[in-house]
Amino acid sequence: MTALLEASSPHTMNTYGRLPIALSHGQGCRVWDINGKSYLDALAGIAVNTLGHNHPKLVPALQDQLGKIIHSCNYYHVPNQEKLAAKLVELSGMSNVFFCSTGLEANEAALKLARKFGHDRGIERPEIVVYEHAFHGRSIATLSATGNPKVQAGFGPLVEGFIRVPLNNIEALKAATAENPNVVAVFFETIQGEGGVNSMRVDYLQQVRRLCDERDWLLMIDEVQCGMGRTGKWFAHQWAGIVPDVMPLAKGLGSGIPVGAVVAGPKAAHIFQPGNHGTTFGGNPLAMRAGVETIRIMEEDGLLAHAAQVGEHLKNVLQRELAAELAGGAGVKEIRGQGLMIGIELSKPCGVLTQRCADAGLLISVTADSVIRLVPALIMSVPEADEVASILCPLIKAFLAEST
Ligand SMILES: *Cc1c(COP(=O)(O)O)cnc(C)c1O
Repeated sequence: MTALLEASSPHTMNTYGRLPIALSHGQGCRVWDINGKSYLDALAGIAVNTLGHNHPKLVPALQDQLGKIIHSCNYYHVPNQEKLAAKLVELSGMSNVFFCSTGLEANEAALKLARKFGHDRGIERPEIVVYEHAFHGRSIATLSATGNPKVQAGFGPLVEGFIRVPLNNIEALKAATAENPNVVAVFFETIQGEGGVNSMRVDYLQQVRRLCDERDWLLMIDEVQCGMGRTGKWFAHQWAGIVPDVMPLAKGLGSGIPVGAVVAGPKAAHIFQPGNHGTTFGGNPLAMRAGVETIRIMEEDGLLAHAAQVGEHLKNVLQRELAAELAGGAGVKEIRGQGLMIGIELSKPCGVLTQRCADAGLLISVTADSVIRLVPALIMSVPEADEVASILCPLIKAFLAEST
């Protein structure tokens, strides 16, 4: 099996360090590879498969849509664009939506909105505040906004107009923007995903909201990974009771069908005019149906409360099972995150655990070198969460016990 897979990709570009696994199908939180081995899926296609695999309500709806129309194009109205936009407006308390297909596209649109917001006010060289360890995508502009030198290496010159600050430090934000009339926006993830599951504190979120109001900046919150119910609220910033001006979404929005969106509040909703922005696939009928049905099923099945509950349970079990390793720097630095977005930071790089977990029948990821990231489907059950912990914790202990 391994030999076959390692030698089997001579025609795709060498952009990913892949595990020697190919998945063939799934059911709920369980997936099977082409050799019939089964895995518990605690990665969900990187926080994408909101409803797990082969969901009994989603699949028939998508099949119905496939037989009607897959793609039309934005020369015409797409009724489900309006339906999904109205739903996102209702859930976010914001006002208008632009649809695209991916996270970087949603962020690219947000960056364009911020720049035009500035130009509309006579600011010719607008600047956007971004954060250390941020991840916003891999287009030239979004990799420039990203706070990871590995993502940027080899792609200079970077896009200019970004000011970088540390997380959760309002004084640092004020100092970095002092006397600078060109600042137009502050842009961050409520919980950084690729950066290692790092949360913005509730009080910091509130402070930044106030500062953006005082200075007339756009507050732009990248909810691509932490949004769509993952933390137990529709959008993670809602735990702080704030509303952003711009909110990019993607990943979980279509349960696996590529759907991206930029949701804008009144301050940003009318910046784009015809001709300013667009995309061929954005808002296509299949994508919109996936978004509409994902939210409908999440509401019908009470998945926000469920994600909060199962996430809390999983975090507690991990904390209990790894209590010895957490105590006094014994290898586990911290278990953090909210709902079904959990990070376990170890004291040493632990990328090898992805393969070891897979061998043991569990799919996870390791990000920021030393953080085990769990972002399962929001339908994960309590017994399945227990199973995640029962496979993962012994592997962590064994790994920490190894020398080097
Ligand atoms: C994944 C991710 C992106 C990029 O999304 P793509 O669909 O891969 O372009 C942007 N921001 C955050 C927070 C992400 O997690």
